[in-house]
Amino acid sequence: MKYGIFSDVHSNLEALDAVLQCLEQKKVDGFISAGDLVGYGPNPNEVIWRIRNLSNLLIVAGNHDWAVAGFKELTWFNDFAARAIIWTKRQIKEDNRNFLRQLSRQVETSKFTVVHGSPRDPIDEYLLTEDIFKENLTSFDSPLCFIGHTHVPKVFCQTAAGNTETKNPGNEGKTKIHPEAKMIFNSGSVGQPRDGDTRTCCAVYDTDTEEITFYRVEYNFGLTQEKMKRCQLPIFLIERLSYGR
Ligand code: ZN
Repeated sequence: MKYGIFSDVHSNLEALDAVLQCLEQKKVDGFISAGDLVGYGPNPNEVIWRIRNLSNLLIVAGNHDWAVAGFKELTWFNDFAARAIIWTKRQIKEDNRNFLRQLSRQVETSKFTVVHGSPRDPIDEYLLTEDIFKENLTSFDSPLCFIGHTHVPKVFCQTAAGNTETKNPGNEGKTKIHPEAKMIFNSGSVGQPRDGDTRTCCAVYDTDTEEITFYRVEYNFGLTQEKMKRCQLPIFLIERLSYGR
């Protein structure tokens, strides 16, 4: 089976469409998403609708999803994020809010686990360093875990011998999964990349070859920025799409 992997769409329809087109070309049979469908961007309803209609979808809740669902207080967020959440709550249709409300914190199969933040704190922890990776190793049983939340593509690995390493997946770079090793894979953010690259990102996980391939894809972020201006979303959130920061 081939899964399309994506995370942190954040209501960016242009970026999501670019990613879905890329994954369609790779002929994926299913999808894994590490959450944060909404927040920051101008198209929450359209993004949720697209994602709800994907076949064989495994998806978890992110911190922004929970805030829009009404499960999380705005005091957890910085001012820009909070303003975008308030705007999203006003826009969102009831059936889409209900979709966010029923998302799980964690999905587990024999091959992989999916969470937004980290295995030990699925909604909120930022898994940014190798030390935090090591602290999380006992919190998931499968060889592989998919995360999001940091908006930075990253691969953390503990080999069968117990050594740990961190690497950047790199465009079209392949990561091999070893059943006796443990790995956490962050495919980065579809709708708001923060690694200095403006392109959107996704990955393909092939369960037959046990390989993950990471992709960067150009999209028209100028159009997203125009829509954000019309919606009067915070200027800081609009401008950061030009820098991928
Ligand atoms: Zn996010």
